[in-house]
Amino acid sequence: MAQEFSDESQQALATFFTERVQLDERSQLLSPSNLIEPWIRHCAACDIPRNETKSYSVGGIILGDNMIYDPYPLCLCGDCEEEIQSLLSQQTLGVWDDFIQTNFDCPPGQYRDLPTKGRPALL
Ligand SMILES: [Zn+2]
Repeated sequence: MAQEFSDESQQALATFFTERVQLDERSQLLSPSNLIEPWIRHCAACDIPRNETKSYSVGGIILGDNMIYDPYPLCLCGDCEEEIQSLLSQQTLGVWDDFIQTNFDCPPGQYRDLPTKGRPALL
């Protein structure tokens, strides 16, 4: 699906994550215990503690019963989610909206109060 995003949006997302997410610091969270909490303790982009945010989203990659670490799982606060949404082109927002409508059966209004203006976060 990401291939359907506009070049402008792909570049904006890459720049955001490269500039704002400290990948080397996140890699230091790797441990044999594979605890999830340290990875989502703070917003990955602005470092605000998750328990001090008004809203947040958590993303991860899961294969079967296994979490795939580094740089996920990660947390993004609502403010950073809004910032990401503002970087996306109308074409990309349309692709994302179509993807959500096609693949997720949500009750009407479920996303009404999200800071991302009705869209689930794009992590
Ligand atoms: Zn943040």
